[in-house]
Amino acid sequence: MKLGLFGGSFDPVHLGHLLAAQAAREEAGLARVFFIPAAQSPFKTGAQPAPALQRLRLLRLALAGDPAAEIDDQEIRRGGVSFTIDTVRTYARKFPEAELFYLVGADQPAQMPLWHEAEALARLAQFLIVPRPGEALPQLPAPFRGRALRGTPLGVSSSEIRRRIQAGLPFAHLVPPAVAEAVKNNRLYL
Ligand code: ATP
Repeated sequence: MKLGLFGGSFDPVHLGHLLAAQAAREEAGLARVFFIPAAQSPFKTGAQPAPALQRLRLLRLALAGDPAAEIDDQEIRRGGVSFTIDTVRTYARKFPEAELFYLVGADQPAQMPLWHEAEALARLAQFLIVPRPGEALPQLPAPFRGRALRGTPLGVSSSEIRRRIQAGLPFAHLVPPAVAEAVKNNRLYL
């Protein structure tokens, strides 16, 4: 069984995330993709993300009705800085027979050698690189294994969405409809 693990801040989740997960499913033949929101990314310690429960709630709305997508809140429950190796180890223990594929956008590989326990992580999971407009499709740095996907590249980021909301610009075309509605109704990210 091939399982996809998709970690990120999801602050908020957007269509780029959903397209990335779908591409990984189809191109790598994944049975399921787990979305794993970070409590705090090691590379975004300068900025506090929106409260974890808010990010989780939006993820649930985005993924409702998709039986192949699951939300794993383990990093949020652990709290503190979220290290991918800790999370991947829990999957390796829980699914010893599975092949694990960790999804990353094309902006990530350059910093992957700096990830905590990179060697151990490279042994436990393969990596799928999802193209992002504006980012050249990079090679995976050693010792990581995996490949690039074709994907359905979409030039959207959570930070751009947050900026648009604060500036009063339209953003509903960049997120699933239920997420747009919840953000508007609850006046999030203002
Ligand atoms: P921010 O703008 O706040 O840095 P982000 O949009 O990059 O956020 P994250 O939740 O930090 O979103 O990203 C989680 C993962 O999804 C990362 O591997 C990131 O590279 C990837 N990703 C995010 N947006 C896209 C996109 N539009 N296309 C492909 N991959 C993406």
